[in-house]
Amino acid sequence: MIGDYHMHTILCKHAVGSAPEYVRTAAEKGIGEVCFTDHAPSPHGYDPSNRMTLDQFPLYLRMLAEARDARSSVEVLSGIEADYYQGCEQFLADWLPRQDFDMVLGSVHYIGGWGIDDPDQLAVWKTADVPATWQRYFELVAEFARKGLVDVIAHLDLPKKFGHRLPPDDLMEFVAPALDAIADAGMGIEINTSGLRKPAAEIYPCSNLLRMAFERRIPICIGSDAHAPADVGSAFDKAVALARSCGYTHTVSFRKRTATPVPLPAECAR
Ligand code: ZN
Ligand code: FE
Ligand code: FE
Ligand code: ZN
Repeated sequence: MIGDYHMHTILCKHAVGSAPEYVRTAAEKGIGEVCFTDHAPSPHGYDPSNRMTLDQFPLYLRMLAEARDARSSVEVLSGIEADYYQGCEQFLADWLPRQDFDMVLGSVHYIGGWGIDDPDQLAVWKTADVPATWQRYFELVAEFARKGLVDVIAHLDLPKKFGHRLPPDDLMEFVAPALDAIADAGMGIEINTSGLRKPAAEIYPCSNLLRMAFERRIPICIGSDAHAPADVGSAFDKAVALARSCGYTHTVSFRKRTATPVPLPAECAR
C-alpha cells in the first residue's frame, strides 16, 4: 500500500487542521502509512515565521503520538522537512541523528534571503534572471545532497511553482549535476503532488526530470505536501501514473531512515 511522505502541522504557522484529521483523510483514501514532515526548527532564527521553534519540537512529537493513537489502520511515521540555508549544517549534522526520525526530507526554499516559493516574495521573480535562478537553485540542491544530511530531496523543480519555466534542454542541463549528487549520496527524491495545486499545475518533478532520476536509479517516494487535512493523498493516482510512465515500478517506504522498496500499485483510484 502506498504512503504519503510529506505532510505538515499547524506548528509551521501556515497549515491548518489537527494531526489526527490528516490521518483520518489518509484512512479514508486507503493510504497505509503517513510520514509527517513539518518544517524543521532553526535555532539560528532562520525564517522563524514558517517553522516550529526548537522548544516546540516535543509538542510536535506529542501531536504525532496523538495521531498514532487514533484507532486507525494508518501507520504514522515521524519525519521532518529540513531547509538548506547558509550555516544549517552544524545544527542538522548534530540534531537530526539524535532524533528518532523515520525519514528526513531536504528542501531548498531559499536562494540567499529570497524565498523563491513564498507568495509574499513573488514580486522578486519580476526582476530575477530566471535561468540564473534555476541554475543557482540546482547548485544549492547539489550542495545540500553532497552534505549527506537528509534522506529524500523534496520538490526537485520547485522554481516552477509560479510558472517561471526554462526550455527543457536548459532545465535538463542544470539539473544533471544535482541528480548526480543525489544518486551518489544514495538519496531519494519525492514525487510531490502539491505542484498541481499551484500555478505550475504540474507535479514536482516534471517527467523529463523524473526520467533522468530513473536513469540514475534514484528511489522515489510520494508526498502530497499537505498543509490541510483534505490535501492528504491528493492526486496520488496521477503520481503513480507519472512514476510508471518514467519507468518506475517501485516506491520506497522508510523506517528509521532506511528505505525499503514497495511495488507501485497497478492503479490507484484516488
Ligand atoms: Zn509549508
Ligand atoms: Fe518544501
Ligand atoms: Fe512541505
Ligand atoms: Zn514543502
